Formats: sequence, C-alpha cells, structure tokens
Amino acid sequence: RYPHEFSGGQQQRVAIARALAVEPEFIVCDEPISALDVSIQAQMVNMFEDLQEKEGLTYLFIAHDLGLIQSFAHQIAVMYLGTIVEVLPGEEISTSAMHPYTQALLGAVFDLNMDFSKKIESIESEAPSPLDVPPGCPFQNRCDRCMEICREKRPALIDVAKGHQVACHLYT
Ligand code: SF4
Repeated sequence: RYPHEFSGGQQQRVAIARALAVEPEFIVCDEPISALDVSIQAQMVNMFEDLQEKEGLTYLFIAHDLGLIQSFAHQIAVMYLGTIVEVLPGEEISTSAMHPYTQALLGAVFDLNMDFSKKIESIESEAPSPLDVPPGCPFQNRCDRCMEICREKRPALIDVAKGHQVACHLYT
C-alpha cells in the first residue's frame, strides 16, 4: 500500500517498525499509541515490553494517559507547563503520588473496578499560556491547596523518598 492508504493506527505501527529496524538502544516514543484503539494499544505495550526484555532497550515514553503509563513504566516524570513536578517509580504512582497535579491526573483515570459512586473530579480553570507563565508555582491557578508562597516562589524538585522527587511547597 501507499502511505496515504494506511489507517492512522497502521501508520503509527509502521513508524514504530522503522524506529526498531536500525536496532537502537534508546528510543524516544512521543505518544506512539495514542491513535490506536484500546485493544491494539495493549498489544503494542506488550510488544514494547517484549522488545525491551529481549533487546535491552530503553524508552522515553511520552504520553497523556497516566493509566496506561503506570502499567509498564519503571520510572515516571510528571510534567506540567514544561516543568517536571514529580518523579517516582512507576509501580508506586497510584499509592505514593504527592503533587496535587499528579493526584488530580490519577483521580481522572478511568478503571472498570473503580468506585462509581464517587464523582470524577476535574481540574478547574485553564493552564496559563506557556509564553506567559506566572512567577511561583506553574500549577497555582488550578491548585485547591495553593498558599501565598506558591504565588511568589517556584518550588524546587526535592527528594522526598528513595527515587521519589516532588516540586511543591506543601513538602518543603
Ligand atoms: Fe499547589 Fe502550591 Fe504545591 Fe503548587 S506549590 S502544587 S500551588 S500547593
């Protein structure tokens, strides 16, 4: 087939195959499965994991879907408005996430076994323009725990446990 005859998902799989064909050690995967339907996504994640084990690959996997990422990432860095706000081991994210933005993202993950009596909380307001980021914490206008210091001083990424760093004034 010609490229224009492939579906979006097929094009994405061809792109992944092309990246793998040169036998890399490190691959940056920027939203590699976002255009695929959920059943194909699971197959692709299994394929990524198999290849990682067999070929000793390292992936930098960029995605919006925290529910998907936490199922296989060894380490997760959560970024808000160009700033890394939390870094922690993938297997700990659902139990140990500390930053209000990470917690809000986790609260929006849909799960068949979730408690359906609880309301899914949305993050209020809009993110500021990346061209006009306010001083202080970049998440301040959407954080329901915002304090005075958050509007004045940008929180640094600090160690809170082994392999776990967070940038939030609640923990300084
Ligand atoms: Fe919220 Fe302040 Fe923490 Fe930013 S630093 S996430 S505004 S509590």
